[in-house]
Amino acid sequence: MIVVRTVADLRAALQPRRDGSIGLVPTMGALHEGHATLLRAARAACDTVVMSIFVNPTQFDEQADLAAYPRTEDADLAVAAAEGVDVVFAPEAAEVYPAGFATTVSVAGPVAETLEGAERGRGHFDGVATVVTKLLLAALPDHAYFGAKDAQQVAVIRRLVADLGLPVEVVVCPTSRDADGLARSSRNARLSPDERVRALAISRALQEVTDAEAAGIRRSDALRDRALDVLAAALIELEYVAFVDPVTFAPVAAIDGPVLVAIAGRVGSTRLIDNIVIGGA
Ligand code: AMP
Repeated sequence: MIVVRTVADLRAALQPRRDGSIGLVPTMGALHEGHATLLRAARAACDTVVMSIFVNPTQFDEQADLAAYPRTEDADLAVAAAEGVDVVFAPEAAEVYPAGFATTVSVAGPVAETLEGAERGRGHFDGVATVVTKLLLAALPDHAYFGAKDAQQVAVIRRLVADLGLPVEVVVCPTSRDADGLARSSRNARLSPDERVRALAISRALQEVTDAEAAGIRRSDALRDRALDVLAAALIELEYVAFVDPVTFAPVAAIDGPVLVAIAGRVGSTRLIDNIVIGGA
């Protein structure tokens, strides 16, 4: 495994490997089992696996969140090596955003402007879209791997890949969960033992909605009430419980086909998100 810090070195490392397929797994580091599932999917399908580690400053709406974001590069490189990664691209911010940087990739519409886009501000998905475009252009992979845990991010990336005609297949891996249901996240490390127990209400609420829909409840507002009942006891500072089209993120009033149920809230000072698709594949 080699570690490169510049786009020029990344391209030089990949050039002799372009006869085979290349898979890119973008991350912000602080790797956990959820990231490992993406690395394994890429390893199983691609001749060369590239993983990027870049804590992208432009997608953070809160300076405190950016400052507190865990940075564990040595441990991340050990995980990457163990999962069979060939090339790690870990640039400094100045490599990604050199002096004079003035271009933003901005996806319009509910897919980028609602839910996470509304709570975290317009700049969040602009930051995500811009850095992912840059990573895709730097590595020019055949396949790029993302987690369903960040469903809106996936929808934004699918939109920009289609709109810009980028020659890459977007591969989405299922949300990886701890045994008790909590969606794995780098931010979980910040939860106190009590907060971790309370955080479980988010995945339980999604399960409750899934069960209620399977039992025949079709109206989103009735299903939302079921979720709110589960969440109420857990003292979560709720931001949203949303029922939306998984592609456009337009709100849906009744379950008549696949619907994404997305929850965001704070447990203590830690902001958590989770989601599930109900109503068919
Ligand atoms: P991050 O380092 O948080 O930016 O995540 C890097 C990639 O890993 C993104 O595509 C995430 O959606 C994905 N990811 C993070 N947590 C999980 C999880 N629990 N299950 C599946 N994918 C995940």
